[in-house]
Amino acid sequence: MTPKKKLPITLARPEHTLSRSLVDDDALWVLRRLRRSGYLAYIVGGAVRDILLGREPKDFDIGTNARPSEVKALFRNCRLIGRRFRLAHVFFRRKGAPDKIVEVTTFRGLEKMEDDSHLTSEDRDKTGAVFGSPEDDAMRRDFTINALLYNFDDFSIIDYAGGLSDLESKKIRLIGEPDERFSEDPVRMLRAIEFAARLGFTIERKTASGIKANAHLISESSPARLRDEVRQMQHLGIVGEVFREASRLGLFEHLYPEVEVSDGIYHLLKPLDDESKKGRSQQEYRYIAALALPTVVNHYPLTGEARLDEAAPAITEVVTPLCARYQISAHIRHQAKEIILSCYRFAKGKHYRAKGKFARRKDFAEAWEFYSLWAAFDDSQSSAAGYWGSYLEERNTPLDQKKKPRKRSGRRRRRPSKRGAPPTS
Ligand code: ATP
Ligand code: MG
Repeated sequence: MTPKKKLPITLARPEHTLSRSLVDDDALWVLRRLRRSGYLAYIVGGAVRDILLGREPKDFDIGTNARPSEVKALFRNCRLIGRRFRLAHVFFRRKGAPDKIVEVTTFRGLEKMEDDSHLTSEDRDKTGAVFGSPEDDAMRRDFTINALLYNFDDFSIIDYAGGLSDLESKKIRLIGEPDERFSEDPVRMLRAIEFAARLGFTIERKTASGIKANAHLISESSPARLRDEVRQMQHLGIVGEVFREASRLGLFEHLYPEVEVSDGIYHLLKPLDDESKKGRSQQEYRYIAALALPTVVNHYPLTGEARLDEAAPAITEVVTPLCARYQISAHIRHQAKEIILSCYRFAKGKHYRAKGKFARRKDFAEAWEFYSLWAAFDDSQSSAAGYWGSYLEERNTPLDQKKKPRKRSGRRRRRPSKRGAPPTS
């Protein structure tokens, strides 16, 4: 084993691949301006990690020792945001291009300030952990690979937490003690799993046991933040992979206590993830339906005899609390419930009376796709799914390919005039 290098490690410009040509022009402009005004200016967080991995960063976050009020004074196109955690957004608007934001944060300290009364109201926030050195700032980040700094003064990369070696060995390692860091912010547990899936890394052993031990704390974290993280996974097409790992580490049951883990969930999530990976983001209600359906059918079996008026409350029992916890709109909740209820319509097979009306609904094609997917997993649906398959094929066959209708015997009846058409004479 090669001996571990002593931290911090500084890689001078010739020793790394982060060149300025890979940095967004607007971020460079912000960095230069901070430097010229005598402040420290660093690229921090995900962008350094992504460039070193040869990936394109999603955005460039900048760290500085300028306080929020000083950043605001320096940039006309700047707004301070966040009451909990104050930071500056520098806006760039160009004709024909989407608006861009470069996020500028002041290096944070590890110690809470005893007395923040000397701070301006613009610089004070609810965290109380205010202003520190670049090292302090790196050490309060979540994972070692997210704590690398790029110093715009001499273009070196500085590693205080061991991120360079973890990038090499493809490890997600939490900075600090898991019990402390996960209880401080339980969302980090979900982020660990998310980064592992996204980068194809493994979660380091101590970090993984920390998740197992602290998983229950996730239910105390902000639902809005959790929903944002889950949306990000939806966008990246890694939901199935993340939920599988979350379930292995005991986190899933605290994220979705009303959902019973089953392979059916992963089966339903797979095509959604596949589509998102191709750049076609999927609607949120489809994920909710995928999460809920296996549990619903466990509680109220999906059979030809099932009654829609009894299926509806079984669906509500799972979908409603899930949506309430994550503050998901009534519209999305309704769509999720409807697509599950449609499975019960399909399960009736030929005995479903309102087939024609159902098949004319706007959401029919999507419901059929969802049910067919479930039927490929659940053998008990083969006869109903087979029936609907032939029924729809028949419906979609152009008239001239259909079996010739029997000739009517007797006199031809006159076709009735169209409803609402004016009388002809
Ligand atoms: P990307 O933007 O590509 O999704 P990122 O690493 O930039 O990935 P962000 O969510 O944008 O992730 O956060 C920016 C940085 O802020 C992270 O790299 C990390 O250093 C830090 N960070 C974010 N969330 C936390 C957290 N909950 N605890 C500690 N540090 C965090
Ligand atoms: Mg980022």
